[in-house]
Amino acid sequence: MPHSYPKCKKCKNPAMYRVRYARLWLCPKHFVEFFERRVKRTIDNYKLVKNAKHILVAVSGGKDSVTTLYVLNKFKDTYGYKVTGATIDLGIPGYSAKSLKVVTSLYKTLNIEYRIIRLSDYGFTLRDLQFWRNKKKVRRPTCSFCGIIKRYLLNRIALDLGADVVATGHNLDDLVKFVATDYYNGRISELVKLGLKTPPMGKFAGRIRPLGLMSSKEILYYANILGLPYVHTGCPYSPKHTNIQNRILIRLNDLEEEYPGFKIGFIKSFLHHLKPVIVKGYDIEEREVYTCSLCGMPTSNKDRICSFCKLRMKISKTISA
Ligand code: SF4
Ligand code: ZN
Ligand code: ZN
Repeated sequence: MPHSYPKCKKCKNPAMYRVRYARLWLCPKHFVEFFERRVKRTIDNYKLVKNAKHILVAVSGGKDSVTTLYVLNKFKDTYGYKVTGATIDLGIPGYSAKSLKVVTSLYKTLNIEYRIIRLSDYGFTLRDLQFWRNKKKVRRPTCSFCGIIKRYLLNRIALDLGADVVATGHNLDDLVKFVATDYYNGRISELVKLGLKTPPMGKFAGRIRPLGLMSSKEILYYANILGLPYVHTGCPYSPKHTNIQNRILIRLNDLEEEYPGFKIGFIKSFLHHLKPVIVKGYDIEEREVYTCSLCGMPTSNKDRICSFCKLRMKISKTISA
C-alpha cells in the first residue's frame, strides 16, 4: 500500500513541516510565508520598529541572528528603515574565524552595510578570559563577561552610527528560559528588561527581538529552506546541559510536546499580564543613567565606571599579577 504523505494545508502539495500549535502541515513555500507573516505580525503588534529609521542587527553567524538579519532586510522597504549589520570578533578559537567568514559573505550577498569590531583591539579576547578562568584567576563564567562585552560594543557602534535600535536574534526558547530562570532566582531587575522590546534609556540604545515568538526549530526550518548560510557548530564556551537555564528549557519543551503552544502562551502571559505589573512596581523610569568617567559611555553603575571598563581594569591587574 502506498504511504500517504500529509498534504500542505494551503496547496495540497506534499507537506514537510508540521506546526503543531497551529495544527498545520505546510510545504516549504508555505512554511516560509507562514514564518514571515508571523514575524511581521510580531513587529506590528508589539510596535517593534515604530519610529525606527536605522536598525543595527547584531549578527554572530548562528542561525537565529542570520535569520533576523535576512528578515529585517527583507522588510526594510515596507517599514522604511535602513539596516546595518554588526559582528563582534570575540577571538574564540575555532569559532570566531568561521563566523566572520559566514557573515561577511552574507552581508555582501545581501548588499548590506556592516561593521566588524575586534575585541583584540581592546587588549584581550574571550580566549584569554577562558584561560584565566581555567587558571581560577577570574571567577565569573565566560558567558557573563561575554554578555558585558557584547552589550557595550553593540551600544558603542549604535551610538557611533546613530542607529535607533539594536536587533538581536533571541528566539522564543531563549525568552522562555530567561523568564523562567529570572523568576526562579527572583531577579526582578532582569525580568523588567525581558521581552520583545527594551526602550532606549539615556544613551543606552533600545533593543528589539523580532524572532522572540518563533521557536528555535521554526527558525532552523526557515533558514534551511532558504539556504541561509550559518555556523553549524556552537560556541565552545557555551554552557552544557548542566546549567539551570538549559534544564528548565528541557522541562518546558516536554510541556510543549504535551500541550502544543505552551511556550508561546507562557511568554504572552508574561508580556501581557505579569510584566506590566512588575514594571509598575519596580519603577523602571527612576533608574539613573550616568556617564562612565573612563570611556564616556553610558552606565547605570553609581560609581560612574561602566562594567566594560571594570572588566578591562581587572584584566590589566590579572596580566600584571
Ligand atoms: Fe559568548 Fe557564551 Fe555565547 Fe560563547 S556561548 S558567544 S561565550 S555568550
Ligand atoms: Zn503549500
Ligand atoms: Zn567605560
